[in-house]
Amino acid sequence: MYRQIKTTLKSILPESLLFGLEPVMRSIYSVPFRGQGYHCSICKTNLKKWISIHDGADNLCPACGSIARTRLMTTLLFEKTFELEKQSWSLLHFSPSRPLKRLLRKYPKLDYVTTDYESQYEDCNYDITAIPEPENRFDLIICFHVLEHIPDDRKAMEELFRIVKPGGTVLLQTPFQKGPTYEDPTITSKTDREKHFGQDDHVRIYGLDDFIVRLEDVGFKTKRQNAVELIGEESVNRLSIKGENVVVFAKK
Ligand SMILES: [Zn+2]
Repeated sequence: MYRQIKTTLKSILPESLLFGLEPVMRSIYSVPFRGQGYHCSICKTNLKKWISIHDGADNLCPACGSIARTRLMTTLLFEKTFELEKQSWSLLHFSPSRPLKRLLRKYPKLDYVTTDYESQYEDCNYDITAIPEPENRFDLIICFHVLEHIPDDRKAMEELFRIVKPGGTVLLQTPFQKGPTYEDPTITSKTDREKHFGQDDHVRIYGLDDFIVRLEDVGFKTKRQNAVELIGEESVNRLSIKGENVVVFAKK
């Protein structure tokens, strides 16, 4: 039902208009989902159920469209780790989700910059391996689900290290598998990448230990924590986040 409505609207409305109308349309669509038991940390809606997506692998908030990892990140940013509402930080956000971007835009003290390699809706279209920003520019960088798309990830990590301030943090997440990183630059077709790396535009699947080593090789000090460690079991359940969802904190 949700997918059918989304597909229909996409086919009849220009994308820019659709994005503009999205908050109003979602607030109407979400009425039957409202209730008790669950909570969205982005739009603050209390819910009795989510929209199940990807064959039950994730839960979408009907009121704002957030997925679980974005709710985890938002809880870290505002409630648990960073108290972002009190900060006057410069923040660079790679490939932001629309719900979190809308929320962060409401904090005028933040120097908030969004970037995506292609999207016309972001402030910048930076190539993460050659970022046109000065060194020590940002207090915080959010880089969730980006590096698994980047062939030269070492160069990207060097760039992240260069532009974050000393004492600043890069928040990272990618899909992880047990054991070592699996990558093979000879696998280039969409079909083969989907088969080998889980998505047709991914170029590897990281092992978490390898990922940490690569970050430390370019100079970062790292910490890894799963969702339960970060926000507690009660919040994990209320936000419907998988407890093993890992966030890597890379500090300069
Ligand atoms: Zn929401």
